[in-house]
Amino acid sequence: MQNAPIRYLKGIGPKRSISFEARGVNTIEELLYYFPRRYEDRSNFASISSLKEGQIYTIKAQVLAAGQRYSWRRRSFSITEAALEDGTGKISCVWFNQPYLKAYLKAGSSMILYGKVERYNARLQMSNPEYEFLDGQDDDSLNVGRIVPVYTLPQGFSQRSLRHLIKNALDEFLPKINDPLPFDLRSRNDLVNLAESLRNIHFPADLDLQKQAHRRLSFEEFFIFQLPLVLRKLSRKERSGIAHLVEGKLSEDFISSLSFNLTGAQAKVLAEIKSDMAASQAMHRLLQGDVGSGKTVVATLACLVAIQSGHQAAFMAPTEILARQHYEKISSQLSKLNFEGRKLRVALLIGQDKEKENIYRNLKSGNIDLIIGTHALLQEELSFKNLSLIVIDEQHKFGVGQRALLPEKGDNSDVLIMTATPIPRTLAITLYGDLDISVINELPAGRIPIKTMHFEQKNIQQAYALAKEELKLGCQAYIIYPVIEESYALDIAGAKKMFAELKSGEFRDFRVGLIHGQLKTKEQDAVMLKFKNKELDLLVSTTILEVGIDIANATCMIIESAERFGLSQLHQLRGRIGRGKFASTCLLISDCPSSEAEARMKAMVDSNDGFRISEEDLKIRGPGEFFGRRQHGLAELKIANPLTQMQLLKAAREEAINLLKQDSGLKERAHQPLKEKLLQRFPEYEKLMLIG
Ligand code: ADP
Ligand code: MG
Repeated sequence: MQNAPIRYLKGIGPKRSISFEARGVNTIEELLYYFPRRYEDRSNFASISSLKEGQIYTIKAQVLAAGQRYSWRRRSFSITEAALEDGTGKISCVWFNQPYLKAYLKAGSSMILYGKVERYNARLQMSNPEYEFLDGQDDDSLNVGRIVPVYTLPQGFSQRSLRHLIKNALDEFLPKINDPLPFDLRSRNDLVNLAESLRNIHFPADLDLQKQAHRRLSFEEFFIFQLPLVLRKLSRKERSGIAHLVEGKLSEDFISSLSFNLTGAQAKVLAEIKSDMAASQAMHRLLQGDVGSGKTVVATLACLVAIQSGHQAAFMAPTEILARQHYEKISSQLSKLNFEGRKLRVALLIGQDKEKENIYRNLKSGNIDLIIGTHALLQEELSFKNLSLIVIDEQHKFGVGQRALLPEKGDNSDVLIMTATPIPRTLAITLYGDLDISVINELPAGRIPIKTMHFEQKNIQQAYALAKEELKLGCQAYIIYPVIEESYALDIAGAKKMFAELKSGEFRDFRVGLIHGQLKTKEQDAVMLKFKNKELDLLVSTTILEVGIDIANATCMIIESAERFGLSQLHQLRGRIGRGKFASTCLLISDCPSSEAEARMKAMVDSNDGFRISEEDLKIRGPGEFFGRRQHGLAELKIANPLTQMQLLKAAREEAINLLKQDSGLKERAHQPLKEKLLQRFPEYEKLMLIG
């Protein structure tokens, strides 16, 4: 009944239901969950005589007079002005480019205004305040004299009409609504019931009640979000895996062949992985570590554990360049090793390989021990003889769907997922609640921290000069542009044109190369190879370099139009240098058009630590933006915030584990409303629950 389409509500025709659908509201229940964007305390209005400059107020006042003029600079730009008074004083308001407003600003009409008070020509003024007219025919008990919700408006609605609609829906449906949170869970966690919380999130009698409602609804969001993750995790625990031989000659030989000792963090993580791999349940582990922290070595060791146990391993990278690089590095590292009197057989599979058929055959017959590749590894025709480990590198580059696909290849395979965009632990749990998490929180000793500097565009010569000094010493450098072709509209330089310019101008004494995503893979590989073999000094590039590229002799990176990149992305890019024994420099070029861009530059200059950077990035952008659309789920959290409500998230997760341990199929009577709600959100979980 609450699932009925919204057009069945009184007062909503087809037109209005369409504008609701555009906001993701299709059913009556979704309307009840359409939460206010903010509240206004209209039980007490500020009197105009008490207003202070620089503060935000809600006032109630009458229009004295209004007028409209047009900007002399831009004829079409309207400026609407009104003088208002409330018995204690007068204030003027202006609205820019809202010409229709004039018709409503009749002398004597009563309105509510919300906005910041400024001083203009020695008088107080509000510019572009939010407003609401009070002379409707309807009952004003919803709109004044109380705490009032303010919504993001679907097209065709006013605040008043939407309030009215939601109030009616609440009155009609709350008495019949089922609470998805079982009673005992609510009392354990001190949560109000659903009907009460929905009423108080929209029309709270006071702010305490609003807070209680907010807490309860946030808990519910976290809980419903965690259930499928926990369910998946529990059902995997039951899935039998392969008990690997974790101590063996092959893995030991590899460790002794390395020119360095594992860091403490690497050793700790390796122990966690080994203990998973030794167990007879399948591993599902996320390995987080900053760029250059040495995740690949750990993953290679895990592959060797699989191989010495008589199985095959697969290593999947997000781009062809990266797959090739992993292949070259790993196969050369492993070439020294002997296993049961023979060499290891490592192969590369990317896209349209000529060798494809051959590789398929050898994977099937068990003639390949380790296959490294791109998502080409996901192809349906491909099958293994006895795959037992899947490594997925830079998982944030793969869609969630792709992440789910690979494990089906090897039914009992262990899965190790690696990411160089480390995120705070609570957030990792929200997002990857179905995985166990390991963290490498230490860089190998002897790394020289990268020095990062910020230049304005007009000082770019200084940056070029610093880069040239590096080149003269025999080191190499990157210059990164946000786009391939320049954009006049956005006024940003592009890689192609700048390549031509730099090659014959600023860097004419050096060998300059160009790489970007429009080049064919073969051409890209050729350029990378030349750079790697030091046949190029300077590489002009786009973000194609963002992940993984590992060339120790590159010690300088210039990033132009740096404001066009996100913070985490800048850090990833910067991770391409500082990988060898020489000190490295990262030079950010940006005029910082916004305070946000400035904050990003500052964070980069101040810190080299990936965890701090991503926390900063999260703070600047918020979780939804940070993860983007592809990481569905977080974007669906409408009211809960994992950054500010960590305790609540933890409690919700624990309750989800409790509940599913006791009733994994949600069969108990008390769990039916929850089951209904869960399947509404995630229909695909029907199958998993049947198993339980
Ligand atoms: P990540 O994949 O985490 O970005 P890599 O595994 O590619 O990092 O390691 C970066 C570089 O550091 C590689 O050249 C690798 O050989 C080297 N390396 C890895 N572990 C260590 C260590 N413990 N000590 C010194 N160098 C290391
Ligand atoms: Mg890596």
